[in-house]
Amino acid sequence: MITIAIDGYSSCGKSTMAKQLAKSVGYTYVDTGAMYRAVALYALRHGWINGGHVNKEALTAALDDIDVRQDKDGNTTLCGENVSAAIRTMEVSNSVSYVSAIPEVRSRLVALQRAMGSNGGVVMDGRDIGTVVFPNAELKVFVTASAEIRAQRRYDEMTAKGEKVDFNEVLENVKRRDYLDETRAESPLRKADDAIVLDNGSMTIEGQNAWLMEKFEEACRKG
Ligand code: C5P
Repeated sequence: MITIAIDGYSSCGKSTMAKQLAKSVGYTYVDTGAMYRAVALYALRHGWINGGHVNKEALTAALDDIDVRQDKDGNTTLCGENVSAAIRTMEVSNSVSYVSAIPEVRSRLVALQRAMGSNGGVVMDGRDIGTVVFPNAELKVFVTASAEIRAQRRYDEMTAKGEKVDFNEVLENVKRRDYLDETRAESPLRKADDAIVLDNGSMTIEGQNAWLMEKFEEACRKG
């Protein structure tokens, strides 16, 4: 069984294709963004995030108590509570990149992610999977699309769930997170040298899934 790293910009449809591939081939899917979001939710609930400022001392001191997991059904739990919906709010989206820039948070979550994928057979999506978490992954994909297309997808997803959001606010959040994720000192978002780039701006979901399956089969033949 091989390891598959799917990295890329926010809201570019990484998780949809990663989840589908994992289901089709019987691998485990890991959404690492959800893990950073769960830590951000914990910090928000404790009042440790104010605008762009995070109380790093309090958060790093509490890391041992922040039990983040992903179950087989794809749910994310925080200290035993299913927070799959709670981590998708604009409030969490607006805070998460400040939390994910903290080196102690990253090293903790990276260790968990490596343990989850230690036997291969995982499709993991995030920002640093091909560069940091699994630099030896047999298949690395870097997904991108314009900020407007990505914001529209996120907006459609949120309104379909009945959330009232403003398109411009979603677009600003997407751009802001790209900027923060690309410019942070610790494991910034960047394409691994050996990753295959997929610009899915004008692709259908079925087209993306078929593309990824083909790359998967190629990687299995080689690996
Ligand atoms: O994938 P998603 O958009 O849910 O990720 C939320 C945030 O978590 C990103 O904007 C980024 O700040 C952080 N993240 C990260 N490294 C990962 C996955 C996500 O820094 N591997």
